Amino acid sequence: MRKLIAGNWKMNGLASSLAEIEALKGTTGTAACDIVVCPPFTLIEKASVRSNGSNIAIGAQDCHAHISGAYTGDVSAEMVADVGARFVIIGHSERRVLHLETDTTVASKVTTAHKAGLTAIICVGETRSERDEGRAVEIIDGQLRGSIPAGASSSNIAIAYEPVWAIGTGLIPTLEQIEEIHASIRRMLEERLGEDGREVRILYGGSVKASNAADILRVANVNGALVGGASLKAADFAEIILAAS
Ligand code: PEP
Repeated sequence: MRKLIAGNWKMNGLASSLAEIEALKGTTGTAACDIVVCPPFTLIEKASVRSNGSNIAIGAQDCHAHISGAYTGDVSAEMVADVGARFVIIGHSERRVLHLETDTTVASKVTTAHKAGLTAIICVGETRSERDEGRAVEIIDGQLRGSIPAGASSSNIAIAYEPVWAIGTGLIPTLEQIEEIHASIRRMLEERLGEDGREVRILYGGSVKASNAADILRVANVNGALVGGASLKAADFAEIILAAS
């Protein structure tokens, strides 16, 4: 399966940061994996123009659950698709925690993203205390069941396993722990989507960097990575992309 490496810039990036996309284009043109950069909303259109004609796709970091309407300050899936996004991250733990997004909200957003023709990267992951209580598999299974809507398929979703305690902390699970969770996600996807569940890409996210990417990307059922901090600088992100190629 072709790997997918997605960068999440979070609330970082000004117009000057578009130079990172230019630099990435210069170093990853022959990469044998799919590449997505998710800048903040304000840069999606310009990033799409800059990445035009390259192997870099642009994504959003969120979208609203409705396609349009009286939702002051929100941005819809149709709007980000209109300015060039092809992917959207949905249900990132920072959205689930800071914006109180539930699995039901996530599933609605994914449906709306699909209506706009976007591929949804659906994030799931356990907290430190849930892992310590031995409930990681159970928690992730529940999140997946609630967050994947009807109509999902390998051509319009990817799953990102992101342990909450590993995001931005420099901590990562052991390779065995990553393998266990990815295997259980794969089982659930097959149960839900049948044979097509084998084709859904499952990304690992949480403190991925150049020095650990190759080992993580070799784990069974790890079909790519969702990268936060290390995606902000083209040189760091390119090393991760090349590790997947
Ligand atoms: C993320 O925000 O999705 C993420 C994985 O962040 P980091 O790589 O910085 O841990």
